[in-house]
Amino acid sequence: MTRQPGWASCPNCQGLHFAGHDFKGACPAGGQHSQEGTFGYEIDFDVPAEENVQHGWASCPNCKGLHFAEFKGTCPAGGQHSTEGSFAYALRFNVPPLPGSQPEWNACPKCQSLFFGPFRGKCPADGETHSGENSFNYVVPHSSRLQFRLRGFRENQSTDDFLQGGDDEIFISATGLDSSSVRVGPDGKPVVNLITAQPVGDVSEDSVRGPWGANPHALIEFDLLQQGDFPRTYTTTLFVVEQDNGDLQQDFQELHQQVGGKMKAAVVGVAAGVGAGIGAAVGSAVPGIGTAVGGALGALAGAGYDGLISVIDEGLQDEIFTPIPITLTVDSPWRIRTQPDVDSLKAQKVREHDADYDIVYDWHVV
Ligand SMILES: [Zn+2]
Ligand SMILES: [Zn+2]
Ligand SMILES: [Zn+2]
Repeated sequence: MTRQPGWASCPNCQGLHFAGHDFKGACPAGGQHSQEGTFGYEIDFDVPAEENVQHGWASCPNCKGLHFAEFKGTCPAGGQHSTEGSFAYALRFNVPPLPGSQPEWNACPKCQSLFFGPFRGKCPADGETHSGENSFNYVVPHSSRLQFRLRGFRENQSTDDFLQGGDDEIFISATGLDSSSVRVGPDGKPVVNLITAQPVGDVSEDSVRGPWGANPHALIEFDLLQQGDFPRTYTTTLFVVEQDNGDLQQDFQELHQQVGGKMKAAVVGVAAGVGAGIGAAVGSAVPGIGTAVGGALGALAGAGYDGLISVIDEGLQDEIFTPIPITLTVDSPWRIRTQPDVDSLKAQKVREHDADYDIVYDWHVV
């Protein structure tokens, strides 16, 4: 079985279609399909025979629509659907929806397309709405979470210079910011939500970092189904502390509070720049700020945190490293798995306080 990402639902016709090519397919509502507000759907092909799995589904090169190919149906591009070049797709039906899948998809007996049942959309067979008559309840998988995962930790040089070679006790935490979580607050001002990671460590111990090769440690997890527009930025700001008889809990508390405050201020500044809150409903996401949020947090990396960290450092006995923001920009949910930075192993250098570490990480979609 292979699972193919790149599928989207169209808000105009409610049809499930393949959006991975430049041409998005003819839409029964006119023009090409739209991918506005869609989840990143994923369809299986070459699936073994199994109960509650229906084979015989195909994609049409003219309308890009997923349709039941045993009957040819009606194609919005004219004539019947074509199965030319299609994989042999299969759908699960009448099963309880698992997390990461959406029920209530229907097959239309008029056009043979798969469409989202609760909304009827538009049918190319007669220009009316699709019909869900006698349809199974199809359950369609989609990506739902983005993880920032730790995959390894290398200690090239220790901070304890009298004891070269790895006696440091190093702990990592992080804070996560999803640009689509910036909402309009009750007073019309932007509200910023941060995600806090549980600290992990001592990451220089083999018993801690060793298992990450086979079982990566999901430090931060973002909800991909959150309402809001794209492009979006997901920023993980890494906190590194080398413990020297200090209080780790206090260290990370300070970092989360002080650095989090600075991050929030930067994002509120960006939101004010795009006119957030003007006429927007309370609780709605602030549109159009995705890449600007990532940029603002990235700009804090250097000088932005310098003064702040020396102040935090002075009051504590441990060595506090300058926070490191790492941003992933996602331009659309159906393209997320093909972005070059997803599922590719990266190493982040940490060079400060005479230390030289590599934090090995990846971005992963589930
Ligand atoms: Zn459409
Ligand atoms: Zn078609
Ligand atoms: Zn139809």
